Amino acid sequence: MTTPAASPATSPFRFFDLHVVRATALTPSMIRVVFGGDDVSRMASAGRDQRIKLFLPSPGHDAPAVPRDVADPDRYTAWRSLDPSTRGVMRTYTIRELRTSPAELTVDFAVHGDEGPASRWALRATVGDRVGVLAPVVEDNVAYEFRPPVDTDWVLLTADASALPAVAGILGHLPPTMPVRAWIEVPTPADHQPLPAGLDSAITWLTTPATTTEAIRAAALPAGVPYAWVAGESSTVKSVRRHLVRDRGIPRTRVQFSGYWRNGTSEDHLMQTEEAA
Ligand SMILES: Cc1cc2nc3c(=O)[nH]c(=O)nc-3n(C[C@H](O)[C@H](O)[C@H](O)COP(=O)(O)OP(=O)(O)OC[C@H]3O[C@@H](n4cnc5c(N)ncnc54)[C@H](O)[C@@H]3O)c2cc1C
Repeated sequence: MTTPAASPATSPFRFFDLHVVRATALTPSMIRVVFGGDDVSRMASAGRDQRIKLFLPSPGHDAPAVPRDVADPDRYTAWRSLDPSTRGVMRTYTIRELRTSPAELTVDFAVHGDEGPASRWALRATVGDRVGVLAPVVEDNVAYEFRPPVDTDWVLLTADASALPAVAGILGHLPPTMPVRAWIEVPTPADHQPLPAGLDSAITWLTTPATTTEAIRAAALPAGVPYAWVAGESSTVKSVRRHLVRDRGIPRTRVQFSGYWRNGTSEDHLMQTEEAA
């Protein structure tokens, strides 16, 4: 009797070797980078706040060192096992757009000077620069958080520039009849962007250092059952969430919150802290 071979482990994510096709300044604080590569057409996105992992070359290298097996299901461990001094620098970003013809991935970088490797890289991105991307190959994947329950009557969004690409994806995904109230904090008025608008959507732009929590506190919110999605700098996210849950009485389960970055802390340090915890 023969035993059938076990089917190979399949993973809804894989590594892609990509290069910069073009890079343009969208607004003073946002650089749009469009990536191409042989198999971008195999990449998938759920839209909304679809996150990806971006791997940038470490200093002195032309291309990021990432695990060779592009479909390794344990790819994160494989990346961790590479030499930290030469492996690609990993950062989290959002798919702003995934096109099929031509097959291109667009990522919008909120730039904040030379302080972090990703911001530094984006400020100098040039046609042909190579990066690695860990991205889904199926639309139905675990790497997005905007999941409003079916009984949602209206949606509340708050973001800063780092979460603006995700807000654009969420607004593009929502049916035009869904009422939306959004607060978006950007460094300067010139950083406002045109966003998809439904029949009853109100977007309030705030200029740093405005306090998003105070702006929401002063607002009259729609009646009905809300779903809130809150992202951006960690302390602002915490403050907004506290207001929504404690002062506005929105159930915790209806408030999705994500710290996209933390003042004074790099993403490497945040990852190490999370792993240690
Ligand atoms: C799910 C998810 C999706 C994200 N999507 C996007 C996206 O599409 N576009 C985008 O621009 N960012 C996005 N981010 C945020 C991005 O990953 C962080 O801003 C990241 O820290 C940038 O890496 P860096 O190398 O530039 O800075 P790091 O090396 O991580 O940090 C260096 C210093 O810069 C500060 N810093 C980091 N980010 C910012 C910022 N945005 N503004 C001001 N100071 C900052 C840190 O506090 C630290 O002091 C996302 C984050 C998450 C978790």
